[in-house]
Amino acid sequence: MRVSIKLKFSLFLALLLILALSVLSFFVLRGVDRNQQAQTERYLAQHVKTVNLRVKQTYYTGTRLEPQEFMKQRGRQLAVELAGFTGLEVTLYDAQGRLTGSSAQGKLSRPGDDGRSEVQDSLAYALQNKIAYQSRGDTLLYLAPLQGPEKQMGVVQLQYSLKDSLSFQQTLKNLFLTTGLAVLLLSFIIGYLYFNRAAVAISRLKLAAEEIRKAHYIAAPPVKRADELGELAEGIYYMSREIESSIAAKDEEQRKLKLAVQKLQALEQQQKQYIGNISHEFKTPLTSIKAYVDLLNMYDDDPKLLQDAKVNIAKETQRLYEMVEKVLQLTALEKYDFESQAELLEVGGELREVCGRMSGKAERFGLTLTLDTQVSHIWMDRESFMHILINLLDNAIKYNVTQGNVHIRSEARDGRVWITIRDSGIGIPAEARDKIFEPFYTVNRDRSRQSGGTGLGLSLVRTLVEKQNGIIELLDIEGGGSAFRLSFPAES
Ligand code: ADP
Repeated sequence: MRVSIKLKFSLFLALLLILALSVLSFFVLRGVDRNQQAQTERYLAQHVKTVNLRVKQTYYTGTRLEPQEFMKQRGRQLAVELAGFTGLEVTLYDAQGRLTGSSAQGKLSRPGDDGRSEVQDSLAYALQNKIAYQSRGDTLLYLAPLQGPEKQMGVVQLQYSLKDSLSFQQTLKNLFLTTGLAVLLLSFIIGYLYFNRAAVAISRLKLAAEEIRKAHYIAAPPVKRADELGELAEGIYYMSREIESSIAAKDEEQRKLKLAVQKLQALEQQQKQYIGNISHEFKTPLTSIKAYVDLLNMYDDDPKLLQDAKVNIAKETQRLYEMVEKVLQLTALEKYDFESQAELLEVGGELREVCGRMSGKAERFGLTLTLDTQVSHIWMDRESFMHILINLLDNAIKYNVTQGNVHIRSEARDGRVWITIRDSGIGIPAEARDKIFEPFYTVNRDRSRQSGGTGLGLSLVRTLVEKQNGIIELLDIEGGGSAFRLSFPAES
């Protein structure tokens, strides 16, 4: 059976109190009893003295009788007289223990009566010149020797009522009992309440421990007290915080690990796809070349076939060459840190040079190339910058329409240089916007192939831009065409 700690403590306290009160009341009552007894003895001894004095006086003043005779003759009267003096009932016995007189009515009428039988033993004792007591209910019989001229001539018996002292003792006992019970009850209640507070604190600590076990960490000490329980509560709180932070750190590590594994898996998947794409992209021009070679083997005297084969084989070979070059560039960029030779570039000048290089191609496509630049500088590898711009301009020309235009604009703003290449071409459909930077992705494979595209240009551009701490984004524009925006940290 489970008994709560507060009940245990309270019962223990109550037992201690009962013990303390019992011991205390025992000693106090005993002390009071003894004190009363001593007082009574002193009181009675005093009366005995008076009695002896009076008896002696009477003996010597009257006719001189034998003590025995004196007691017999005068005993009755003396007893009444002495009772008047002392205010107590007095009984007198002669030296033989015979009753000679008593102040009590009944006994007065029967002198020499054998009423002494009740006090026989005490009387025999008192006749040996000693003091004897005998209690009868609430009455104390005090028997003391009566001194004669030579020796003991009798015994005087004083009857003393113990009613008052017994009732005083009873009152005292009652007082002890009621006060004791009240104190006990009060102490039990106070103790119970006090221990209840401690027990509440303990059960709060227990609850906190259970919460921590369920991984519900506590935000403050469960108990605030300036004692050991308070210290324990603080200890539990700090322990909870420690566990929480170490578990959080572990969770964070686990999350990072999971993320790394996911990234690795995605990378592996990408790599597989990349290899698959390369194989496929390489196979297409090779198949075309092989087909022409087979045809030439069969019809080597067909001048038209020969002409077609020359043109197409040259085109496919060029495509293969470009592809190999871009794949190699991409691989080199991803595997090793790009060996860039950063230098201060004046953006306007570089843009003008790229436009000059690309103007021939633009003319061939019947396009207008316009440039709008502000003076601005960037710190970066010139070759990479050229690669980026040529690829973007090449796309702007390739995916344009006849009589279209390409507009290049640069400006310095917010500590960065912004370059926008906007064309009036076929545009990029919304669903392809997220994918165009992926290697080998083409919106329209035939169109891309026709224009010698490989699907690797933008992927290479993005890698180069990021290596130079830049950002490339495809702008969302209205009115057809596409616009790519580059930004690099500006050099003041
Ligand atoms: P590609 O060698 O095929 O041009 P890119 O990686 O440079 O490969 O471009 C990926 C695809 O994005 C292209 O095949 C094309 O469909 C689309 N694209 C890129 N630039 C433009 C542009 N300026 N206008 C329209 N489509 C574009």
